[in-house]
Amino acid sequence: MDTLPKCPACSSEYTYEDGEMYVCPECAHEWPQTAAESAGEARVVRDAFGNVLTDGDAVTVIKDLKIKGSSSVVKVGTKVRNIRIVDGDHDIDCKIDGIGSMQLKSEFVKKA
Ligand SMILES: [Zn+2]
Repeated sequence: MDTLPKCPACSSEYTYEDGEMYVCPECAHEWPQTAAESAGEARVVRDAFGNVLTDGDAVTVIKDLKIKGSSSVVKVGTKVRNIRIVDGDHDIDCKIDGIGSMQLKSEFVKKA
């Protein structure tokens, strides 16, 4: 990611780096590079107990979960391997044996 961010003041694309700062030649706005980096940080997804979840983690379901549009239920205690963190209301993308690909809410799982 070497692309420079647009100017937050005027949206100019002609920003340049000056030491620790970004500078916009069009409106003369200057801002620190560190601020731009922390703003782009990925959000943190936590399980029901506050443990941070990351891609590739294994989790255990802590509540029976009905699957929309099907009679299947993901039973409490079901182990789910190799989760993927995604954006949205259901923030875990995964594949469950016998059920297939689905999405879970992080609040209903526990890090294994
Ligand atoms: Zn500007």
